[in-house]
Amino acid sequence: MANENKLQDIIGHCKEYGYVFQSSEIYDGLSAVYDYGQYGAELKKNIRDYWWRSMTQMHDNIAGIDAAIFMHPTVWKASGHVDSFSDPMIDNKDSQKRYRVDHLIEGYAETLEKGTGDALIAKMEQLLADNNLTGIKELIEEHKISCAISGTCNWTDVRQFNLMFATQLGSVAEEANEIYLRPETAQGIFVNFLNVQKTGRMKIPFGIAQTGKAFRNEIVARGFIFRMREFEQMEMQFFVRPGTQKEWYDYWKEVRMKWHLSLGISAENFRFHDHIKLAHYADMACDIEYDFPMGFKEVEGVHSRTDFDLSRHQEFSGKKLTYFDTEINKHYVPYVIETSIGLDRTVMMVLSDAYKEEDLSTEEKKDSRVVLSLPPMLAPIKLAVLPLTKKDGLPELAKELIDECRPYFKCFYEEKDSIGKRYRRQDAIGTPFCITIDHQTKEDRTVTIRHRDSMTQERIPLDSVRALIVEKTKMF
Ligand code: ATP
Repeated sequence: MANENKLQDIIGHCKEYGYVFQSSEIYDGLSAVYDYGQYGAELKKNIRDYWWRSMTQMHDNIAGIDAAIFMHPTVWKASGHVDSFSDPMIDNKDSQKRYRVDHLIEGYAETLEKGTGDALIAKMEQLLADNNLTGIKELIEEHKISCAISGTCNWTDVRQFNLMFATQLGSVAEEANEIYLRPETAQGIFVNFLNVQKTGRMKIPFGIAQTGKAFRNEIVARGFIFRMREFEQMEMQFFVRPGTQKEWYDYWKEVRMKWHLSLGISAENFRFHDHIKLAHYADMACDIEYDFPMGFKEVEGVHSRTDFDLSRHQEFSGKKLTYFDTEINKHYVPYVIETSIGLDRTVMMVLSDAYKEEDLSTEEKKDSRVVLSLPPMLAPIKLAVLPLTKKDGLPELAKELIDECRPYFKCFYEEKDSIGKRYRRQDAIGTPFCITIDHQTKEDRTVTIRHRDSMTQERIPLDSVRALIVEKTKMF
């Protein structure tokens, strides 16, 4: 269920605690572009590492690469992005506001009774599938769908708007070439298919994974870091023998869903959404959707891309991109199953799931806390070490512990304010464990460990801390 207040609370929390800032904020920001702060950058990196290791370390047959953002312009002709990577848009002539027509119609459908709304969406999907832009405009006019700003129905025609950012390679004086900022990382994998296969002596089935920035000129960018113009993807292309794609598609759907569940998020917050209208390259496709504060939305796509991409690159480059399968003594262009997940959307999913406002009031006193119950393996800081006082040698003991732990995981030291306040600050950042050093530590080398989620505390030997936190925060 959509919960706009929760979204606003999460956005506010992210800013207050150094997770996500608007880009160029001192200049009033740049729309749909965000910067990660000190904790956001750590969380994002940990998610990226977890994905990377799940792919390249936990599978013998998946190799990781790091291809450039800039690619030869013909890549985007071959992939179909120049001709068909576009969204149909419409402008309101009075407010000058531009809308993606599917968002405009979907927004209106939500205000209708379910049956009527669903019928409208079905009609829209059919018109979009037929590429009938005149029909879409007629549908908007027929339902008198108006602009939220001007309130009028004074619309332009519906036009296709390409989402790729173009820029110039080379100096202006020379013949500069127009190139694109990549709108997906996948093509860097396709063009390196043979390089990796040959140098890694990979045998089909095998995968190539990579993470990296992608850029899309999203017209209606909304939902915080859910839809950005510059974002990061984590993609894996799995090359298989033609005819076996269904079995591998099912396999990867299951593996990827298990990965999401391994983040400690409950199964009821996920669902598969099968694509009815398939992209030009796909023979099967689905999304893994998470129940964001705005409702169920895509976080990852699993696509069976056939041999479309490799065949097109073969055609456009004139280079052979076939594989010789020794088991069946045959050359062929492999089929591909793709898993494609947005890193920023995963950050948002993890934050949405972790963010909790808890009422801790007792009969005597009102109390509450905000806690980020992040999976310990993803938390930006694994351990906060807090001396009870600033004197009596307690800070020295705390720093000794930090020096011992620092090479293994990220620690945080704080001596200001009461212990209670310090715990609450760590709760808000999502630190799973706090260690308090007190006077008893000096006598018997024991410390108090406080657990973020249960808020329980226990006494443990100082010398056991490092091994315990390593164990509790490990990824595998
Ligand atoms: P949507 O329908 O939401 O626009 P898409 O189907 O175009 O997404 P894909 O092209 O399949 O998305 O990209 C794979 C993944 O990349 C998506 O599942 C999503 O997590 C992420 N992604 C795509 N566009 C954006 C964006 N503008 N901002 C953040 N993440 C994005």
